[in-house]
Amino acid sequence: MTFTSFSFDRRIVDGIKACNYETPTPIQTQAIPQVLAGHDVMGLAQTGTGKTAAFALPILQRLLGSRPTQNAPSVLILAPTRELALQINDNFKALGKRTGMTSSVVIGGVGMNPQIKAFSRSRIIVACPGRLVRLINRGAVRLNAISTLVLDEADRMLDMGFMPDIKRIIAQLPKERQNLLFSATMPSDIRKLADKILVNPKTVQVARIAPVESVSHKFYKTQTDKKVGLLEKLLAKSEHESVLIFTRTKHKAKNLSRKLSNSGYDSTFLQGNMSQSQRQRALNGFRDGTFNIMVATDIAARGIDCDRITHVINFDMPDTVETYTHRIGRTGRAGRTGNAVSLVSRDDKMHISSVERVMRIKMEQCTLEGFEQTDEAPRQKHAARPQASEKRRFNSNSNSNSKSNSRKRRPSRRRRAAA
Ligand code: AMP
Repeated sequence: MTFTSFSFDRRIVDGIKACNYETPTPIQTQAIPQVLAGHDVMGLAQTGTGKTAAFALPILQRLLGSRPTQNAPSVLILAPTRELALQINDNFKALGKRTGMTSSVVIGGVGMNPQIKAFSRSRIIVACPGRLVRLINRGAVRLNAISTLVLDEADRMLDMGFMPDIKRIIAQLPKERQNLLFSATMPSDIRKLADKILVNPKTVQVARIAPVESVSHKFYKTQTDKKVGLLEKLLAKSEHESVLIFTRTKHKAKNLSRKLSNSGYDSTFLQGNMSQSQRQRALNGFRDGTFNIMVATDIAARGIDCDRITHVINFDMPDTVETYTHRIGRTGRAGRTGNAVSLVSRDDKMHISSVERVMRIKMEQCTLEGFEQTDEAPRQKHAARPQASEKRRFNSNSNSNSKSNSRKRRPSRRRRAAA
Protein backbone atom coordinates (compact mmCIF):
# COMPACT_ATOMS: atom_id res chain seq x y z
CA MET A 1 0.00 0.00 0.00
CA THR A 2 1.29 3.47 -0.89
CA PHE A 3 -0.12 6.95 -0.31
CA THR A 4 -0.97 7.21 -4.03
CA SER A 5 -3.79 4.67 -3.59
CA PHE A 6 -5.76 7.27 -1.61
CA SER A 7 -5.80 9.71 -4.57
CA PHE A 8 -5.11 12.68 -2.36
CA ASP A 9 -5.14 16.19 -3.79
CA ARG A 10 -1.74 17.28 -5.13
CA ARG A 11 -1.41 19.86 -2.32
CA ILE A 12 -1.82 17.13 0.30
CA VAL A 13 0.65 14.87 -1.51
CA ASP A 14 3.15 17.76 -1.22
CA GLY A 15 2.53 17.86 2.54
CA ILE A 16 3.10 14.10 2.86
CA LYS A 17 6.36 14.47 0.94
CA ALA A 18 7.46 17.44 3.06
CA CYS A 19 6.96 15.27 6.17
CA ASN A 20 9.04 12.50 4.53
CA TYR A 21 6.30 9.91 4.92
CA GLU A 22 6.93 7.17 2.39
CA THR A 23 4.41 4.48 3.17
CA PRO A 24 1.23 4.67 5.25
CA THR A 25 1.36 3.13 8.72
CA PRO A 26 -1.14 0.31 9.46
CA ILE A 27 -3.61 2.64 11.17
CA GLN A 28 -3.40 5.00 8.18
CA THR A 29 -3.98 2.15 5.73
CA GLN A 30 -7.09 1.14 7.62
CA ALA A 31 -8.55 4.48 8.69
CA ILE A 32 -7.93 6.81 5.74
CA PRO A 33 -10.37 5.12 3.29
CA GLN A 34 -13.10 5.03 5.96
CA VAL A 35 -12.71 8.70 6.89
CA LEU A 36 -12.55 9.69 3.21
CA ALA A 37 -15.81 7.80 2.63
CA GLY A 38 -17.45 9.87 5.36
CA HIS A 39 -17.93 7.03 7.86
CA ASP A 40 -17.79 7.40 11.62
CA VAL A 41 -14.70 5.61 12.90
CA MET A 42 -13.75 3.91 16.14
CA GLY A 43 -9.95 3.70 16.14
CA LEU A 44 -8.08 1.58 18.63
CA ALA A 45 -4.55 2.87 18.40
CA GLN A 46 -1.97 4.59 20.51
CA THR A 47 0.12 7.66 19.98
CA GLY A 48 3.19 6.55 18.06
CA THR A 49 1.24 4.58 15.45
CA GLY A 50 0.79 7.53 13.07
CA LYS A 51 -2.84 7.99 14.04
CA THR A 52 -2.78 11.81 13.80
CA ALA A 53 -2.10 11.66 10.07
CA ALA A 54 -4.64 8.83 9.84
CA PHE A 55 -7.35 11.39 10.57
CA ALA A 56 -5.60 14.63 9.51
CA LEU A 57 -4.98 13.61 5.88
CA PRO A 58 -8.55 12.55 5.01
CA ILE A 59 -9.96 15.51 6.96
CA LEU A 60 -7.81 17.89 4.89
CA GLN A 61 -8.94 16.14 1.71
CA ARG A 62 -12.61 16.48 2.65
CA LEU A 63 -12.15 20.13 3.60
CA LEU A 64 -10.67 20.86 0.17
CA GLY A 65 -13.88 19.58 -1.36
CA SER A 66 -16.28 21.53 0.88
CA ARG A 67 -17.35 25.16 1.20
CA PRO A 68 -16.33 26.97 4.44
CA THR A 69 -18.87 28.67 6.71
CA GLN A 70 -17.97 32.27 7.39
CA ASN A 71 -16.26 32.91 10.74
CA ALA A 72 -16.83 29.39 12.04
CA PRO A 73 -14.60 26.30 12.05
CA SER A 74 -15.58 23.04 10.28
CA VAL A 75 -13.47 20.56 12.24
CA LEU A 76 -13.12 20.18 16.00
CA ILE A 77 -10.49 17.93 17.56
CA LEU A 78 -10.56 17.34 21.31
CA ALA A 79 -7.39 16.15 23.01
CA PRO A 80 -6.63 15.57 26.71
CA THR A 81 -3.40 17.58 27.10
CA ARG A 82 -1.94 20.84 25.87
CA GLU A 83 1.11 19.02 24.54
CA LEU A 84 -0.98 16.63 22.47
CA ALA A 85 -3.17 19.47 21.18
CA LEU A 86 -0.07 21.41 20.09
CA GLN A 87 1.37 18.31 18.46
CA ILE A 88 -1.83 17.61 16.51
CA ASN A 89 -1.96 21.23 15.39
CA ASP A 90 1.67 21.04 14.22
CA ASN A 91 0.81 17.88 12.24
CA PHE A 92 -2.13 19.62 10.54
CA LYS A 93 0.05 22.61 9.70
CA ALA A 94 2.83 20.45 8.26
CA LEU A 95 0.58 18.12 6.25
CA GLY A 96 -1.76 20.89 5.14
CA LYS A 97 0.93 23.50 4.44
CA ARG A 98 0.05 23.82 0.74
CA THR A 99 -3.72 23.47 1.21
CA GLY A 100 -4.33 26.90 2.72
CA MET A 101 -6.33 25.29 5.56
CA THR A 102 -5.97 27.22 8.81
CA SER A 103 -5.80 25.58 12.20
CA SER A 104 -5.49 26.86 15.77
CA VAL A 105 -5.14 25.48 19.28
CA VAL A 106 -7.48 26.33 22.13
CA ILE A 107 -5.73 25.37 25.37
CA GLY A 108 -5.43 26.61 28.94
CA GLY A 109 -2.50 28.53 30.37
CA VAL A 110 -2.52 31.28 27.72
CA GLY A 111 -4.76 34.31 27.02
CA MET A 112 -8.31 33.74 25.76
CA ASN A 113 -8.69 36.70 23.41
CA PRO A 114 -6.23 35.59 20.73
CA GLN A 115 -7.95 32.19 20.79
CA ILE A 116 -11.39 33.72 20.34
CA LYS A 117 -10.09 35.65 17.33
CA ALA A 118 -8.34 32.60 15.90
CA PHE A 119 -11.56 30.62 16.33
CA SER A 120 -13.38 32.76 13.80
CA ARG A 121 -10.51 32.57 11.32
CA SER A 122 -9.69 28.83 11.44
CA ARG A 123 -11.19 25.85 9.60
CA ILE A 124 -9.71 23.45 12.17
CA ILE A 125 -9.71 23.84 15.97
CA VAL A 126 -7.64 21.58 18.20
CA ALA A 127 -8.84 22.06 21.76
CA CYS A 128 -8.56 20.78 25.29
CA PRO A 129 -12.11 20.31 26.65
CA GLY A 130 -11.70 22.52 29.76
CA ARG A 131 -10.66 25.67 27.91
CA LEU A 132 -13.23 25.18 25.15
CA VAL A 133 -16.03 24.92 27.71
CA ARG A 134 -14.88 28.21 29.27
CA LEU A 135 -15.09 29.89 25.86
CA ILE A 136 -18.54 28.36 25.25
CA ASN A 137 -19.74 29.56 28.65
CA ARG A 138 -18.68 33.09 27.75
CA GLY A 139 -20.66 32.86 24.52
CA ALA A 140 -17.43 33.70 22.72
CA VAL A 141 -17.32 30.93 20.11
CA ARG A 142 -19.59 29.26 17.54
CA LEU A 143 -19.65 25.50 16.99
CA ASN A 144 -22.69 25.34 14.73
CA ALA A 145 -20.67 24.66 11.54
CA ILE A 146 -18.68 21.70 12.83
CA SER A 147 -18.98 18.87 10.31
CA THR A 148 -16.27 16.60 11.78
CA LEU A 149 -15.57 15.86 15.43
CA VAL A 150 -12.46 13.96 16.55
CA LEU A 151 -12.03 12.70 20.09
CA ASP A 152 -8.36 11.81 20.41
CA GLU A 153 -7.03 9.71 23.29
CA ALA A 154 -10.61 9.40 24.49
CA ASP A 155 -9.71 6.98 27.29
CA ARG A 156 -7.26 9.51 28.72
CA MET A 157 -9.83 12.31 28.49
CA LEU A 158 -12.27 10.23 30.52
CA ASP A 159 -9.54 9.31 33.04
CA MET A 160 -8.85 13.02 33.48
CA GLY A 161 -12.52 13.69 34.27
CA PHE A 162 -13.41 15.48 31.02
CA MET A 163 -16.66 13.56 30.43
CA PRO A 164 -18.98 16.40 31.58
CA ASP A 165 -17.05 18.90 29.43
CA ILE A 166 -17.21 16.60 26.41
CA LYS A 167 -20.98 16.24 26.82
CA ARG A 168 -21.35 20.02 27.12
CA ILE A 169 -19.32 20.53 23.93
CA ILE A 170 -21.16 17.85 21.95
CA ALA A 171 -24.47 19.47 22.86
CA GLN A 172 -23.32 22.58 20.91
CA LEU A 173 -22.55 20.69 17.70
CA PRO A 174 -24.84 20.08 14.73
CA LYS A 175 -26.48 16.64 14.88
CA GLU A 176 -25.37 15.80 11.34
CA ARG A 177 -21.62 15.34 11.44
CA GLN A 178 -18.82 12.82 11.07
CA ASN A 179 -17.40 11.45 14.34
CA LEU A 180 -14.00 9.87 14.83
CA LEU A 181 -13.05 8.43 18.20
CA PHE A 182 -9.51 7.24 18.93
CA SER A 183 -8.58 5.42 22.08
CA ALA A 184 -5.69 3.19 23.16
CA THR A 185 -7.96 1.04 25.31
CA MET A 186 -11.60 0.06 25.31
CA PRO A 187 -12.97 0.21 28.87
CA SER A 188 -16.76 0.17 29.32
CA ASP A 189 -16.92 4.00 29.66
CA ILE A 190 -15.42 4.37 26.20
CA ARG A 191 -17.76 1.74 24.80
CA LYS A 192 -20.72 3.70 26.22
CA LEU A 193 -19.41 6.99 24.84
CA ALA A 194 -18.84 5.37 21.44
CA ASP A 195 -22.36 3.92 21.44
CA LYS A 196 -23.74 7.36 22.21
CA ILE A 197 -21.95 9.45 19.62
CA LEU A 198 -20.86 7.15 16.76
CA VAL A 199 -23.33 6.21 14.02
CA ASN A 200 -22.65 2.85 12.31
CA PRO A 201 -18.94 3.21 13.01
CA LYS A 202 -16.17 1.36 11.20
CA THR A 203 -13.67 -0.06 13.66
CA VAL A 204 -9.97 0.15 12.88
CA GLN A 205 -7.35 -1.31 15.17
CA VAL A 206 -3.60 -1.73 15.29
CA ALA A 207 -1.30 -3.52 17.67
CA ARG A 208 0.86 -1.50 19.98
CA ILE A 209 3.85 -0.17 18.10
CA ALA A 210 6.54 0.45 20.62
CA PRO A 211 10.15 -0.58 20.68
CA VAL A 212 10.98 -3.32 23.11
CA GLU A 213 13.23 -1.47 25.53
CA SER A 214 15.70 -4.32 25.73
CA VAL A 215 16.43 -4.45 21.99
CA SER A 216 19.22 -2.49 20.31
CA HIS A 217 18.57 -1.43 16.72
CA LYS A 218 21.46 -1.22 14.26
CA PHE A 219 21.65 -0.91 10.51
CA TYR A 220 24.27 -1.23 7.79
CA LYS A 221 23.90 0.56 4.48
CA THR A 222 25.19 -1.82 1.89
CA GLN A 223 24.62 -3.12 -1.61
CA THR A 224 22.38 -6.00 -2.57
CA ASP A 225 25.27 -8.08 -3.93
CA LYS A 226 27.27 -7.56 -0.74
CA LYS A 227 24.56 -8.65 1.67
CA VAL A 228 25.53 -12.32 1.92
CA GLY A 229 29.15 -11.45 2.59
CA LEU A 230 28.19 -8.83 5.15
CA LEU A 231 25.82 -11.24 6.86
CA GLU A 232 28.50 -13.91 7.14
CA LYS A 233 30.97 -11.39 8.46
CA LEU A 234 28.49 -10.24 11.10
CA LEU A 235 27.68 -13.81 12.10
CA ALA A 236 31.39 -14.48 12.44
CA LYS A 237 32.08 -11.34 14.45
CA SER A 238 29.59 -11.44 17.28
CA GLU A 239 28.25 -13.78 19.91
CA HIS A 240 24.91 -15.33 19.12
CA GLU A 241 22.67 -17.88 20.62
CA SER A 242 19.92 -18.19 18.04
CA VAL A 243 19.60 -15.96 15.00
CA LEU A 244 16.43 -15.34 13.03
CA ILE A 245 17.03 -13.90 9.58
CA PHE A 246 14.24 -12.42 7.46
CA THR A 247 14.16 -12.33 3.68
CA ARG A 248 11.50 -10.90 1.41
CA THR A 249 10.83 -14.02 -0.67
CA LYS A 250 10.43 -17.76 -0.07
CA HIS A 251 13.04 -18.51 -2.68
CA LYS A 252 15.59 -16.26 -1.00
CA ALA A 253 14.91 -17.78 2.43
CA LYS A 254 15.69 -21.25 1.08
CA ASN A 255 18.74 -20.18 -0.91
CA LEU A 256 20.24 -18.08 1.83
CA SER A 257 19.82 -20.86 4.37
CA ARG A 258 21.52 -23.31 2.01
CA LYS A 259 24.37 -20.89 1.44
CA LEU A 260 24.87 -20.53 5.17
CA SER A 261 24.74 -24.31 5.64
CA ASN A 262 27.35 -24.73 2.92
CA SER A 263 29.51 -22.18 4.69
CA GLY A 264 29.41 -24.28 7.83
CA TYR A 265 26.57 -22.76 9.83
CA ASP A 266 23.78 -24.77 11.39
CA SER A 267 20.99 -23.17 9.44
CA THR A 268 17.44 -24.07 8.51
CA PHE A 269 14.64 -22.15 6.87
CA LEU A 270 10.92 -21.60 7.17
CA GLN A 271 8.68 -20.44 4.37
CA GLY A 272 5.16 -20.84 3.06
CA ASN A 273 5.87 -23.55 0.47
CA MET A 274 6.81 -26.15 3.07
CA SER A 275 4.51 -28.89 4.31
CA GLN A 276 3.35 -28.75 7.92
CA SER A 277 5.72 -31.54 8.94
CA GLN A 278 8.70 -29.85 7.26
CA ARG A 279 7.85 -26.62 9.06
CA GLN A 280 7.51 -28.39 12.36
CA ARG A 281 10.84 -30.15 11.92
CA ALA A 282 12.57 -26.86 11.11
CA LEU A 283 10.92 -25.09 14.03
CA ASN A 284 11.70 -27.85 16.51
CA GLY A 285 15.30 -27.90 15.35
CA PHE A 286 15.54 -24.14 15.80
CA ARG A 287 13.93 -24.24 19.23
CA ASP A 288 16.09 -27.06 20.57
CA GLY A 289 19.31 -25.53 19.21
CA THR A 290 20.07 -28.12 16.51
CA PHE A 291 20.00 -25.13 14.17
CA ASN A 292 21.10 -21.83 15.61
CA ILE A 293 20.12 -19.95 12.46
CA MET A 294 16.74 -19.83 10.85
CA VAL A 295 16.03 -17.92 7.64
CA ALA A 296 12.35 -17.12 7.28
CA THR A 297 9.79 -15.08 5.40
CA ASP A 298 7.33 -12.91 7.32
CA ILE A 299 4.30 -15.12 6.82
CA ALA A 300 6.10 -18.20 8.07
CA ALA A 301 7.62 -16.34 11.01
CA ARG A 302 4.31 -15.32 12.62
CA GLY A 303 4.18 -18.44 14.75
CA ILE A 304 7.80 -18.47 15.86
CA ASP A 305 8.00 -18.24 19.61
CA CYS A 306 11.51 -18.97 20.80
CA ASP A 307 12.94 -17.26 23.86
CA ARG A 308 16.57 -17.93 22.96
CA ILE A 309 16.65 -15.66 19.85
CA THR A 310 19.43 -13.14 20.52
CA HIS A 311 19.50 -11.58 17.05
CA VAL A 312 16.91 -10.71 14.45
CA ILE A 313 18.53 -9.80 11.15
CA ASN A 314 16.60 -8.08 8.40
CA PHE A 315 18.49 -9.41 5.40
CA ASP A 316 15.81 -7.54 3.45
CA MET A 317 14.01 -4.62 5.04
CA PRO A 318 10.30 -5.22 5.64
CA ASP A 319 7.77 -3.14 3.70
CA THR A 320 6.06 -1.61 6.72
CA VAL A 321 6.98 -0.42 10.19
CA GLU A 322 4.43 -2.79 11.68
CA THR A 323 6.23 -5.75 10.09
CA TYR A 324 9.52 -4.41 11.44
CA THR A 325 7.97 -4.39 14.91
CA HIS A 326 6.64 -7.93 14.51
CA ARG A 327 10.04 -9.14 13.40
CA ILE A 328 12.07 -7.54 16.16
CA GLY A 329 9.46 -8.62 18.70
CA ARG A 330 10.94 -12.12 18.28
CA THR A 331 14.07 -11.09 20.20
CA GLY A 332 14.53 -9.46 23.60
CA ARG A 333 11.79 -11.67 25.00
CA ALA A 334 11.24 -12.76 28.55
CA GLY A 335 13.41 -10.02 30.04
CA ARG A 336 16.48 -10.83 27.91
CA THR A 337 18.35 -8.39 25.73
CA GLY A 338 18.11 -8.63 21.98
CA ASN A 339 19.69 -7.23 18.85
CA ALA A 340 17.95 -6.08 15.70
CA VAL A 341 20.25 -5.66 12.71
CA SER A 342 19.06 -4.42 9.30
CA LEU A 343 20.99 -4.67 6.05
CA VAL A 344 19.72 -1.81 3.93
CA SER A 345 20.39 -1.55 0.22
CA ARG A 346 18.93 0.71 -2.44
CA ASP A 347 16.51 -2.09 -3.37
CA ASP A 348 14.84 -1.84 0.03
CA LYS A 349 11.73 0.32 -0.25
CA MET A 350 11.21 1.19 3.40
CA HIS A 351 13.69 3.56 4.93
CA ILE A 352 15.29 3.66 8.34
CA SER A 353 13.87 7.15 8.92
CA SER A 354 10.30 5.74 8.76
CA VAL A 355 11.10 3.18 11.46
CA GLU A 356 12.80 5.83 13.60
CA ARG A 357 9.95 8.29 13.26
CA VAL A 358 7.07 5.92 13.87
CA MET A 359 8.75 3.93 16.63
CA ARG A 360 10.42 7.00 18.13
CA ILE A 361 13.78 5.31 18.35
CA LYS A 362 17.25 6.16 17.14
CA MET A 363 18.90 3.39 15.18
CA GLU A 364 22.67 3.11 15.24
CA GLN A 365 24.30 3.26 11.82
CA CYS A 366 27.25 0.86 11.56
CA THR A 367 29.75 0.20 8.79
CA LEU A 368 32.02 -2.67 7.95
CA GLU A 369 34.94 -2.05 5.68
CA GLY A 370 34.40 -3.49 2.22
CA PHE A 371 30.64 -3.72 2.61
CA GLU A 372 29.59 -0.07 2.47
CA GLN A 373 27.14 1.29 -0.03
CA THR A 374 28.99 2.70 -3.01
CA ASP A 375 27.98 3.61 -6.51
CA GLU A 376 30.62 1.37 -8.02
CA ALA A 377 30.12 -2.25 -9.00
CA PRO A 378 32.01 -4.65 -6.71
CA ARG A 379 35.45 -5.51 -8.05
CA GLN A 380 35.96 -8.92 -6.53
CA LYS A 381 33.03 -11.25 -6.39
CA HIS A 382 34.08 -13.27 -3.33
CA ALA A 383 36.14 -10.67 -1.51
CA ALA A 384 33.61 -10.58 1.29
CA ARG A 385 33.63 -14.22 2.38
CA PRO A 386 34.60 -14.74 6.00
CA GLN A 387 37.78 -16.48 7.03
CA ALA A 388 37.52 -20.03 8.36
CA SER A 389 38.76 -18.84 11.76
CA GLU A 390 35.92 -16.33 11.94
CA LYS A 391 33.34 -19.02 11.19
CA ARG A 392 34.77 -21.15 13.95
CA ARG A 393 34.52 -18.24 16.35
CA PHE A 394 30.80 -17.93 15.65
CA ASN A 395 30.25 -21.62 16.12
CA SER A 396 32.22 -21.80 19.32
CA ASN A 397 30.34 -18.78 20.66
CA SER A 398 27.05 -20.47 20.14
CA ASN A 399 25.72 -22.44 23.10
CA SER A 400 23.97 -24.98 21.03
CA ASN A 401 26.58 -26.59 18.88
CA SER A 402 29.19 -28.59 20.59
CA LYS A 403 28.63 -30.97 17.68
CA SER A 404 28.68 -28.28 15.06
CA ASN A 405 32.37 -28.37 14.10
CA SER A 406 32.04 -31.90 12.87
CA ARG A 407 29.16 -30.80 10.68
CA LYS A 408 30.93 -27.85 9.27
CA ARG A 409 31.96 -28.91 5.79
CA ARG A 410 28.74 -30.46 4.64
CA PRO A 411 25.29 -30.20 6.18
CA SER A 412 23.92 -33.49 7.50
CA ARG A 413 21.32 -35.41 5.55
CA ARG A 414 18.75 -34.52 8.16
CA ARG A 415 19.45 -30.85 7.72
CA ARG A 416 19.46 -31.16 3.96
CA ALA A 417 16.08 -32.86 4.19
CA ALA A 418 14.72 -30.08 6.44
CA ALA A 419 16.10 -27.44 4.12
P1 AMP B 1 1.42 9.86 15.96
O1 AMP B 1 1.03 8.48 16.36
O2 AMP B 1 0.39 10.51 15.11
O3 AMP B 1 1.82 10.69 17.16
O4 AMP B 1 2.73 9.74 15.02
C1 AMP B 1 3.97 9.27 15.50
C2 AMP B 1 5.11 9.73 14.63
O5 AMP B 1 5.06 9.06 13.38
C3 AMP B 1 5.08 11.21 14.29
O6 AMP B 1 6.41 11.71 14.44
C4 AMP B 1 4.64 11.28 12.85
O7 AMP B 1 5.18 12.40 12.18
C5 AMP B 1 5.21 9.99 12.30
N1 AMP B 1 4.47 9.43 11.16
C6 AMP B 1 3.14 9.41 10.98
N2 AMP B 1 2.84 8.79 9.84
C7 AMP B 1 3.99 8.38 9.27
C8 AMP B 1 4.33 7.66 8.06
N3 AMP B 1 3.40 7.23 7.22
N4 AMP B 1 5.63 7.44 7.81
C9 AMP B 1 6.58 7.87 8.66
N5 AMP B 1 6.33 8.55 9.79
C10 AMP B 1 5.05 8.79 10.12
